[in-house]
Order: sequence, then C-alpha cells, then structure tokens
Amino acid sequence: MARAFAVMGWCPGALRPMLSGDGLVVRVRPRGGRLTATQGAGIAAAAAAHGNGLIDLSSRGNVQLRGVSAATHGPLIDDLRALDLIDADAQAEARRNVLVTPFADAATDDLAASLGQALTHAPDLPGKFGFAVDSGTAPVLRDIAADIRLERAADGGLILRCDGADLGARVTAQEAPARAVALAQWFVDAGGVTDGRGRMAAMVRRGVLPMGSLEGTVQPAQAMAPPAPGLVPQGALVGFAFGQMQADTLAALAVFGDLRVSPWRMLLVEGLTLLPDMPDLIVTPDDPLRRVVACTGKPGCLQAQQPVRDLARRLAVQVPQGRLLHVSGCAKGCAHPSRADVTLVGTAQGFDLIQGGCAQDAPEVKDLSETAIIAKGPF
Ligand code: SF4
Repeated sequence: MARAFAVMGWCPGALRPMLSGDGLVVRVRPRGGRLTATQGAGIAAAAAAHGNGLIDLSSRGNVQLRGVSAATHGPLIDDLRALDLIDADAQAEARRNVLVTPFADAATDDLAASLGQALTHAPDLPGKFGFAVDSGTAPVLRDIAADIRLERAADGGLILRCDGADLGARVTAQEAPARAVALAQWFVDAGGVTDGRGRMAAMVRRGVLPMGSLEGTVQPAQAMAPPAPGLVPQGALVGFAFGQMQADTLAALAVFGDLRVSPWRMLLVEGLTLLPDMPDLIVTPDDPLRRVVACTGKPGCLQAQQPVRDLARRLAVQVPQGRLLHVSGCAKGCAHPSRADVTLVGTAQGFDLIQGGCAQDAPEVKDLSETAIIAKGPF
C-alpha cells in the first residue's frame, strides 16, 4: 500500500524559505560552489544569531540554516546579502540551480560563473531542474541529480549532455552557457514540463532527445568514484554526521581558509595539507557514520513519523563496511531517494524495514520497535 507524504515539487531558497518542524529552513546557494573564508565565518555567525545554530549541507551542494523565525528572517537576509550570498529576487535564486564539482580548476570556475549569468535568460523551469558543471579532469557528479550537464568527453573536450543520455554535444567554453540555456529551452518546447514539474532523464527515457546542434554525438569521459573524506590535491575533505554541523564548527573551519561545498555533504577546506583535528568531523573513509544515512526526522520535519538520527547513530556500528543503512522519518526518503541495503521507514507505530530497496518500496517487516531493530543487527 502506498504511504502518504507531501511532495513539494520545489526547493527552499534564502528568499523563499521552507517551514519545517524547527522553524524556517533558509537555503543558501554558494556561487560556483565556493565560500570565501569570510563568507563561511559570516554564515556561521548569522546561523547563530538568527537561527538555532544548526547548519546542514544539502545533497545539492547548498548550505541550509535551520531554526529561523519570521522575525529573524529579514535580519538574516541582510547579513547574507552583505556577504554577497543573496540573489536579486526569489526567481533569480531558483534559476541559479547549478552544481559545480568541488575539484574545479580555474576554467571550470569561469564556466560556472558564465553559466550562472546566462541562466538569467533561461525559460521558467521546474523547481528541481538543475545544471551540473562537472568539467574537472573527470566527471565526479554523475550520481548527483542534474538535468543538464557540462562535462569532459572521453578525448578531454567539453560536452553538453542531457541527463540520462549516452552521448553529449561538443561545445566550446565560450558557447557552452548559451547552449545550456538553449537545451533548457528545448526541454520546455519539447513538452518536458507538466504541472510545473519534469526532469530531463524522464524525457530521455521516453526517447525524446534534441537534434541539430544540440544532438549528442560524443562519448563522455569515464566517471570517477565519489570521493571520501581525507586529503585531496585541493585541500582537506571533511564530512559531518548526517551532513549537519554546529555554527561553531563552520566558524572554526573557516579560520583555515576558503571552502568548497560538495554534494556529498562534505566541505573541502582549501589549501590544508593536514586533516583538521576537531570534534564532530568525519575525516576517515571508514568512519561508521558514513555507513548510515538519515534525514531530519522528528521534531525537525513536520512530515516525520519518528525521530531518526539518534537511532541511526546507535545502529552505525552494526553496519558492516561496504553496506548502507538508511533511516527515514517517513516514506518520502529525502535523505537517500535510491536503494540502500537496508531502509528503515518511520511509521506511527515504529519502523518498517525494507531490504535492498528504497523508502517507498513495500516493507518486509512492519512497525518494528527500536529495541527490535537493534536486536536485528548487523545490517
Ligand atoms: S523523509 Fe525525512 S525529511 Fe523527508 S519528509 Fe520524510 S521525515 Fe521529512
């Protein structure tokens, strides 16, 4: 039986926050996926002053400030605007849905900036429709939802590719932003939007693909595996349990330097050659907390049936290396929409258990208590 949850069809922004169980969620889209040290410190100060001090990293590479009230939203926006983190209006903010590889070089940064400007001329697109600038040495954002992708071809050239398509269209860096906007216009003209919703991959699955100058003819490069916490050539990648940190943690990281925000709920602290020695950071690939995923749950989410993060924390040590446990406050499965080895879904009575599926699949066992779940491990 299908379980009930509300599908919003839009994402919160800074100017258009979303009400959650702990107040307004204000989502900041760092330009080009980067925060200067000043911006990082400023976000931390603003989160403590105007919210509840909790900061989330989203799977879209955004930074969310939680616990903001109607009264503090205005002063928060003033502070964020002074940091150059606010767009002209909510529509411009929604259009700038661009994910950038954290391993960007200068050319990729320029491309992301040009695309951001070109998107002011984009047609109205569904709220979740997004772009990926994944033109580092090898694509690294393949597993992250994005409808229009700029990435490397197998021969190292630049291509523009519809999400889900096997081949991309060769483009130059100069023409890429305008061509990406043209591809978005094609998506709209070809009937990709229904009731304000629609994704490129669904069009491609239906066999609807662009022709002419936007037709894909070039093989994309082989993708890299998603990165893990640790040192990388650009600095130190650090993670956080469930992608959430305290404002103090962000402030302390910003002391080290500029930051890049990744869609894997990790921050890249630029220039570090040693891992920071701070509590609450995940700095090793084998940290058990990397084997569990959990959404906000109760009380932070209004749709949640159960609290989830304390349970996920307790279960992490029972998840063997190489496996993934997803604990979801309801069947929407926001934190991990795809399959996991084991998924626990909050219900009014406890948790449903799903093996090898996603949160919306039929459970094998229903309404388990926490005690019964803990006794069931390892997962
Ligand atoms: S999956 Fe979690 S965060 Fe998403 S709506 Fe359900 S309880 Fe809320």
